[in-house]
Amino acid sequence: MTNPLHVLVTGATGRTGSIVVQKLRQRPEQFVAKGFARSEAKTKELFGSTEGFYLGDISDPGRLNAALEGGDALVILTSAVPQMKAPPEPGQRPEFFYPEGGTPEQVDYQGQINQIEAARAAGVKHIVLVGSMGGTNEQHPLNRMANGNILIWKRKAEAYLIDSGLDYTIIRAGGLQDQPGGQRELLVGKDDQLLANPPNGIPTSIPRADVAKVVVQALLEPAARNKAFDVISKPEGTPGAVVTTDFQGLFEQTTPGL
Ligand code: NAP
Repeated sequence: MTNPLHVLVTGATGRTGSIVVQKLRQRPEQFVAKGFARSEAKTKELFGSTEGFYLGDISDPGRLNAALEGGDALVILTSAVPQMKAPPEPGQRPEFFYPEGGTPEQVDYQGQINQIEAARAAGVKHIVLVGSMGGTNEQHPLNRMANGNILIWKRKAEAYLIDSGLDYTIIRAGGLQDQPGGQRELLVGKDDQLLANPPNGIPTSIPRADVAKVVVQALLEPAARNKAFDVISKPEGTPGAVVTTDFQGLFEQTTPGL
C-alpha cells in the first residue's frame, strides 16, 4: 500500500473541476483531494459544505501557498469566464466582456503563474493543467472574444509550466460537452492537428467527464509525466470505436514539450 496522493484542484467549482474533485474523492485509498474555489456559496451549493476546500482567489499567492502546503500534486482548472453583455437584439450576435480582474491575461496567464510558483514553493512534484485546443492559431475566434486573446495567454502559461522544471501534464481539450464519461474512444494529438484534420470528419469535442477521467489517470500513470497533448473523443456509438480504458497506452502516444 502506498500513501494516498495529496491533490489540490483549483477551479473546483467549475464544470470540469467539480467533476475532478468528485472523481478523486471516489478513490480515497489513492487520493486526498482538496478543492480551491473563490465562492463559498457555490461550493456549498455543489458539495454541500466547504469541508476540504480552501476559499480564495488565484490572484492571492498567500491563499495558494496555504492551500498547497504538504501537497503532492496540483490540478489547474481555473479559466477566465467571459460574461455576456445585455442579451442581444434579435438577429444580433451576443457581445462579451471579462470582468475586472478576470481577463485571460490576469487569470489564464498571471493566475496560472501564481499557482505554479506556489506549487514550487510548497514542494509539489506534479502539475496537471487543463487547457484548450486551438492555441497554435493566433487568429482563432476565441482570441477575439472581448479582445481577450485567451488561447494565446493559455499557451504562454503552458510554456511557463514546461520551463518551471516541475513535472507537468498539459491536457488541451477539444470543445467541452456536458455528456456522460467513460463511453467513448479518446484520441490524442498535438499542435491542433486533430482540429485541422479530424479523423473521418468527427466533431472535435469531448465530454467534461472524460477530461476529468484523463486528469485522474494522469495523476496515476507515469507515462503522462512531462507530456502535453490535445484530446478529443469519437462520438458515442461510432462503429469500430473501442471505449478507452487503457490510459497508459493512451499516454504513451503523447509527447513532451509544448
Ligand atoms: P469553467 O466551468 O469555466 O470553470 C472555470 C473555473 O475557474 C471556475 O470554477 C471559476 O470560479 C474559476 N476561476 C476563474 N477565475 C478565478 C479566480 N480569479 N480565482 C479562483 N478561481 C477562478 O471551466 P470548464 O468549462 O470546465 O473548462 C475547463 C477548462 O477547459 C478551461 O481552461 C477552459 O478554457 C478549457 N476548455 C473549454 C472548452 C469549452 O468548450 N468551453 C474547450 C476546450 C477547453 P467560479 O466557479 O467561482 O466561477
